[in-house]
Formats: sequence, C-alpha cells, structure tokens
Amino acid sequence: MSDSDDRRLGMDRVITRRDFMNGAAMVIGASLLPRAPESDSFNRQKPQNKSGYYPPTSTGMRGSHPGSFEAAHSLRDGTFWSSAAEPVNTGEVYDLVIVGAGISGLSAAYFFRERIAKSARVLIVENHDDFGGHAKRNEFHLGGKLQLLNGGTLLIDSPTTYSPVADGLLKKLGINPPRFEQKFADHTLYRSLGLRSAVFFDKDTFGEDRLVVGTPGGGWSEEGPGQTKTSESHWREFLKRTPLSPQVQHDIVRIQAGKVDYMPGLSSMEKKARLCKMSYRDFLLNVAKTDPGVIPFYQRRTEGEWGVGIDAEPALDCWALGLPGFQGMGLKPGSAPHMSYSAAGYANGSSYRFHFPDGNASIARLLVRELITDAVPGHTAEDIVTAQVDYGHLDVEGAPIRLRLNSTVVRVQNISPPASAKEVEITYATGKQVFRVRAKGCVLACWNMVIPYLCPDLPESQKEALHYLVKVPLIYASVGIRNWTCFQKLGIQSVSSPGSYWSDVSLNWPVNIGDYRSPTSTDEPILLHLSRAPNKPGLPAREQHKIGRYEILSTSFEAFERTIRDQLARTLKDGGFDPAHDIEAITVNRWPHGYGYEYNPLFDPDWPEDQRPNVIGRKQFGRITIANTDSAATAYTDTAIDQAYRAVSELMGI
Ligand SMILES: Cc1cc2nc3c(=O)[nH]c(=O)nc-3n(C[C@H](O)[C@H](O)[C@H](O)COP(=O)(O)OP(=O)(O)OC[C@H]3O[C@@H](n4cnc5c(N)ncnc54)[C@H](O)[C@@H]3O)c2cc1C
Repeated sequence: MSDSDDRRLGMDRVITRRDFMNGAAMVIGASLLPRAPESDSFNRQKPQNKSGYYPPTSTGMRGSHPGSFEAAHSLRDGTFWSSAAEPVNTGEVYDLVIVGAGISGLSAAYFFRERIAKSARVLIVENHDDFGGHAKRNEFHLGGKLQLLNGGTLLIDSPTTYSPVADGLLKKLGINPPRFEQKFADHTLYRSLGLRSAVFFDKDTFGEDRLVVGTPGGGWSEEGPGQTKTSESHWREFLKRTPLSPQVQHDIVRIQAGKVDYMPGLSSMEKKARLCKMSYRDFLLNVAKTDPGVIPFYQRRTEGEWGVGIDAEPALDCWALGLPGFQGMGLKPGSAPHMSYSAAGYANGSSYRFHFPDGNASIARLLVRELITDAVPGHTAEDIVTAQVDYGHLDVEGAPIRLRLNSTVVRVQNISPPASAKEVEITYATGKQVFRVRAKGCVLACWNMVIPYLCPDLPESQKEALHYLVKVPLIYASVGIRNWTCFQKLGIQSVSSPGSYWSDVSLNWPVNIGDYRSPTSTDEPILLHLSRAPNKPGLPAREQHKIGRYEILSTSFEAFERTIRDQLARTLKDGGFDPAHDIEAITVNRWPHGYGYEYNPLFDPDWPEDQRPNVIGRKQFGRITIANTDSAATAYTDTAIDQAYRAVSELMGI
C-alpha cells in the first residue's frame, strides 16, 4: 500500500494502540488503590507491584504479548540455559506450585485448597502480564464509559453438559448460566434497530467488493454456525444480490434447502460412517456435486470451531455443527463412532450458554477473588464485571495463595527419583533473572506442548505424546469506534467475510449485568470484534495449525492494524465509515497457541482411549501432575476445570 493509502486509512493517527504495543507500558487505572506491602526483595522487583499496573486496559498487541513467550521459545531452541543468569534460590517452600494461571491453573488452586486446608500454601506462576490464560479481559474507556470485550474465550458453553465438578465450581462462584442468560443478555436491541447479518464479498476472491445484507437465518455469527431453517426463496433472493454466478447461486440454494438424499439405500449409521471419513469440501464437490465456485462461500464456516476450513473437517462433524446439505439424508440425531469430541457433543445435545461482557475472564477474576480476597473487591458474580483488580495484592509475602505474573517456568524437577520423590524444584525466569522455589507437589496447568522442555527427564513416549498436541492458532481483535451510525445506516450487526483477512466482524453482543451497561445509542462509541483463524487449506490439520502459528508470530502489529482499517473501510464504505476518523482504539489478541487440539477423524488414528496422546501425555510423574484443556484434547471451560480436579486428585493420591 502507498503512503497516501495509509493516510486515508488513518495509519498515522494517534489512537490507543501502538503506543502500548510492546505490552510494557500499562495504562493507569489502579494508581489510587492501596499498595501491597513490599517487604521482601522479590516483591520490590515484581512488575505487578508497580503503581498503576493494570493489564486489562493495555492495548496494542495482547494475547501472547511481547515479553511473554521469549524465554519459553529460547528453552525450546536450546539457547536458554547458555545465556541464563545463575538461578537465585528464593527460599520459598510451598505445598503446591501451579504452572499457568488460566482457568485450569486457578481451578487447581481452588480444589487443592478446598481439599487440603484453607491454610495450604500455593504459588501460581504465569508467564503473561495478566492472569486468566485464554480468559483475557480487554477493557476500554471510550468516551469515558467502560466497555469490555473478550480477548480470548467468550462463552460458558460446551458440546457436552457440564460435569458435577465443573458445574459445582460455577455455582460456588455464583454463576448460574441459564438464569444469567435470561436476565442479563439482550437479544432484542439490534433486532429492534433493524440490524441483521450480512456477507461481505471481497474483490480478490469474488471479483468485486460487495456487502450483501440479510443473510437468511441470521448468518452464522451470533446464533452459531450453519443456520439452515430458512426457505429456498429467502436464499434465492439473497444470492441474487451477490456477485456469485447463476450456477453457484443455484447450487447454494440446493445445499441450503437440503432436500436431496445423496446416499439413498444406506442406513443412517452407514451414511454417518461414510461422512465421517470425508471432508465437508469433498461432500459438497464429490457427493452433492456442486460447482467448485460454491466452496469459497462455505470454506471458512468451520474455522471458529476448529481453526481450519471445510477442507480439513469431516462432513459428519459439519452436520453436527449445523452446516447445510444433510437435511434430506435422514440422519438420526445423536453421535456416531469416530466423530470429533465437539461434533459428538453437539450431536448429543450440548450445554447451556452465557457470556459475561469480558467473556470467561469474569470466571478467572471470580476464581482469583475466591483465592486472594484482598485483590478483588466485591461479592457477587454480577459485581465482578466492573471490579478493579489490585494486582499489587496478588503476590504478597505470607499470604497462603500467591499469584506471580511475568514469570516463565523453565524447569520442573522431582528432587529425588520420581517414584520416591517428596518434593519438586521449580525454576522460573522473570525478565533476565532466574529464581528457584520448592514445593511438595506441582500441577502443570500450562500448555502441554511446553512440558517436555520443562521436564526433560520425562519418558520419551510421554514427551512424544505431548508434542503431538498442536494447539490451534487464533486472532481476536477488539476495535473501539467513535459511533455505530454506519451499522445502522447499512442495517447490519455482524458481517461474515468469506474471502477477507478477518473472517467475521461484529458489534459487541449486548449484555447488561451489575453496573455494566452496553451501548444502546448508535451515537455512542462501541467495540467491534474481529476474528481470524490462520491456516493453509489442503494440508493435514496439525500442519495447518503450525503454519498459522508462524503467520501469527511473524505479523507485526502495524500489519494487523492495516488489515483492520482496510477491511472495515471496504465493508462499511456505503455507511459512511471513515477509518482515519472513526477508529479510536485497537487491540489485537494473538493466540499462536489457542484452542487445545481436538482429534480429527480425517487425520488422526482411531486410538483406544488409553493410547491417545493426551492420555499418555498427562501421566503423573512423581510429584508432578498435568492439567489444562490440552490433557483432555478439547478446548472448553468445563474441561479446563475437570482436568484441574483430576490433576489435584492424582497429586493427593485420590
Ligand atoms: C481465542 C479463543 C477463544 C476461546 N473461546 C472459548 C469459548 O468461547 N468457550 C470455551 O469454553 N472455551 C473457549 N476457548 C478455549 C479455552 O482455551 C479454554 O476454555 C480454557 O480457557 C483453557 O484454560 P486452561 O487453563 O486450560 O489454558 P490457558 O487458558 O491456555 O492457560 C494456561 C496458561 O499457562 C501459561 N503458561 C504456559 N507455559 C507456561 C510456563 N512455562 N510458565 C508459566 N506459565 C505458562 C499460559 O501462558 C497460559 O496463561 C477459547 C480459546 C481461545 C484461544
């Protein structure tokens, strides 16, 4: 792009983003809060104890922000120890050290304390500047008003119903998803303003830029993918306004209507067995015999769920997700052998749904309040939304539970042979300094693929299994805009963009809870949510994830910003949107290690349960046990909690 293009997009404008893009500077938000006592030398050195430390308001590059991953990558590359400072023994001894302050790590602390004693001494070590892991809060103050978005995990929902353990923890935290959904989620606001879903067809993929409003069935943004409950005439009318050829339009209508049984004479189970072993792309092209021009329209419909497009997802899983084309095939409800975890769960019913304005960051904040009461004011799951965490209180000398941020664990070692070990030594790096603490046990609630580097003494078969679990890369951007009159003019609330850099753009979903109020007037500023799952269609899923991860880590904030400005300018052009004037703030949450890997029937062997990489990988090793959603080979809040419970139980010998 030329300099004048950049100026038109507003790349030279000062907004809340690049100034803080290195994640080093923290926007002041908590400077008036009382400080934690800084009695020991470590407390004085910790960034989280600095005045004004409040990561949720940091903008620019978030998620895996600069400073959070370098030590781990250097460990992976074998360069860490040659350049590391001599570890300093802090003299601290804990009952339990937990690696990773995501929902799994925080839950592990909760279960351990509940099952051992309130006075149990626990240290949680986290490499990011904030706790929550993927449960990340993006906090903005636009026009002086608090506005929140999820930087990572959004929904309390799951393909399977919550276990008594996970449900029990939500209840303990005061979260009642069905009641909250009914009481606090506002599903009527955008509808009352006449806003609908749309598809943006981009020039590079479809020959011209065109926004087509009124996706039949509401599109696939808010209501979930694969809306099929619409008539052929709606689809015909919608598609007539698109740049798609008459043949492609005809075939999409046929797929959406789904009247055809493409496998006559087979039973439901036989059909499912076949659909399980072919991609949805193959189903469309080779079974339903659509024109190849249909593919770009559907290609990215599975990315939000699995991080790859329809080339790498079984047709049967797409049926369970609600994608069209199967209605005439007489497939009976319920899962079938070989389906992926999510698809099988959706086919069998799935759980309730609710989301806080900052997504599941509210769960992480409630857990921290439960563990370190002084750090988080308030008492209810409703007031947590506007509570301001005092980070200076998270790691206080003498407190039973301590949460240490900006610290990457680089070694976890049983002090004697695993079978007889009574203690574990944990080494972590904070900036250029390296520290060592001891504990009677350690739960690794971190990303499982880092564990072979932390515990090089693990059996080779376990390390190999842990390496198998390639996490799914994802990017969520939060963009603050001055007002949303252009959305009203265009009559849209969410846009699916099958060919653009960002696959989905939507207005923040309104939730009013506690003192938090979502914007209701189109003249007010609002937050937009944009998402992208980088991948490389045509390759096996795990290869696609690795390429996507590389893409994420090698893209600068400036490059992300340019794609955001360009795409919004083109999508919202006819609504009068001016990216240079209308964008107030940008945060890019990049997750090179996002969703936990879920086995894919197209590429993974059909292992017996006890031979699955996640099961081999999570085996207890002396006084070290393993949690995180990775160890369930899934990516959901309930499994993060369930795996924490299992890891703590193993450590306690239960
Ligand atoms: C973009 C995105 C959207 C999602 N949306 C949903 C959703 O809507 N609903 C849902 O249920 N789930 C969702 N998920 C899945 C989510 O991963 C899980 O629900 C859950 O939050 C995972 O929790 P966890 O504690 O297992 O892992 P994480 O949240 O990943 O926490 C692990 C923590 O360990 C830290 N760590 C790693 N290595 C080290 C080390 N060496 N030293 C110290 N710390 C370390 C990591 O940095 C991380 O903070 C989403 C995930 C992503 C990425």
